[in-house]
Amino acid sequence: DGGRRFGGYGVRTAVQNVKGPIAAALIGTELTSQSELDQRLIEVDGSPDKRRLGANALLGVSLAAARAIASLEGVPLYQSISEAPRFLPVPQLNLINGGLHASNDLDFQEFMIVPIGASSFMHAMEIGTEVNLALADILRTKFGKAALNTGDEGGFAPPIDDPEEALGCLHQAVADAGYVEICAYGLDCAATNLYDRDEHVYAIGERLLGREDLIDFYCRLAADYGIVTIEDPLHEDDFAGFAELNARTGDAVQIVGDDLLVTNVDRVAQSVETGAANALLWKVNQVGTLSEALDAAELARQNGYSLVVSERSGETEDTIIADLAVGLGAGQIKAGAPVRGERTAKYNRLLTIEEELGIAARYAGHDFRRPFLS
Ligand code: PGA
Ligand code: ZN
Repeated sequence: DGGRRFGGYGVRTAVQNVKGPIAAALIGTELTSQSELDQRLIEVDGSPDKRRLGANALLGVSLAAARAIASLEGVPLYQSISEAPRFLPVPQLNLINGGLHASNDLDFQEFMIVPIGASSFMHAMEIGTEVNLALADILRTKFGKAALNTGDEGGFAPPIDDPEEALGCLHQAVADAGYVEICAYGLDCAATNLYDRDEHVYAIGERLLGREDLIDFYCRLAADYGIVTIEDPLHEDDFAGFAELNARTGDAVQIVGDDLLVTNVDRVAQSVETGAANALLWKVNQVGTLSEALDAAELARQNGYSLVVSERSGETEDTIIADLAVGLGAGQIKAGAPVRGERTAKYNRLLTIEEELGIAARYAGHDFRRPFLS
């Protein structure tokens, strides 16, 4: 809500908006689908960016409705989302945190392992957890015990400022745990936060890089460190820079738009037109209703984009993104390190779904970018 209460993180106003204007607009109204309900929510809010009633309030109701619809249908939520073939997503496990998510000097926000060679989602979690423990040993030996403090998504926040050193530690951890053949790597650079809009340079560790040098740097990192996915490599309005990197890396690297696309159909359309990204980071609370998020996913997919269903750094224990990832057949999920309740809640829900579906589902594995085509 802003203001002083809970340092601005209180939600009393949002709750009052649900109980007041939103309830008044919905109760007693005949609505036959999620999209009709979401349309009603958009109308009640009336502002172009959901500023009046707030995405917190509107999304809460939209997702509660999705759960209610599944419950009325008597099916699990993922089944109610779609009848698409079932895939358990490959997790992008964020084991080293930097940027705005950590109190260290690492500029890129997320350093992830991507266990594409695992045999199941359960196997992927086993690998992720063992690599995380191996990483703890490496960081403790190298930097002392304070290096085991963690960032917002539960990954370690070691006193490193060079992204290559962080990638080196991840590689060592994967090797020590015995999963070199199974793991690929990913970055979320959140580059808007590194960009100086006056000087047109990015600050990364000791380096000050212009757009072209940064693109060269990414191409080298991807080749040297087995990186298969890079999110927000350039600042959030640089569609042309994204397009240049995308063209350079071709199909070898997934270029993910998070801050670039904000789960918004207009931004996805602009990206399609310019060739900026080839994957959409899908965060339901960026857009504020489930239907609008599904529209963005649909448009992205029609244009050959991959989907990465994502948590937020500030998360709750809610598990809905696990069901949405399976429901969409996304093939990928980003839910932080395999630690702490608000992260493990999602991973545990996926383990349950995998068990429930048995042979009716397959771990997306090497097909993580386009499981639906395999
Ligand atoms: P945020 O970070 O939830 O703080 O935006 C997650 C991300 O950038 O993917
Ligand atoms: Zn991001």
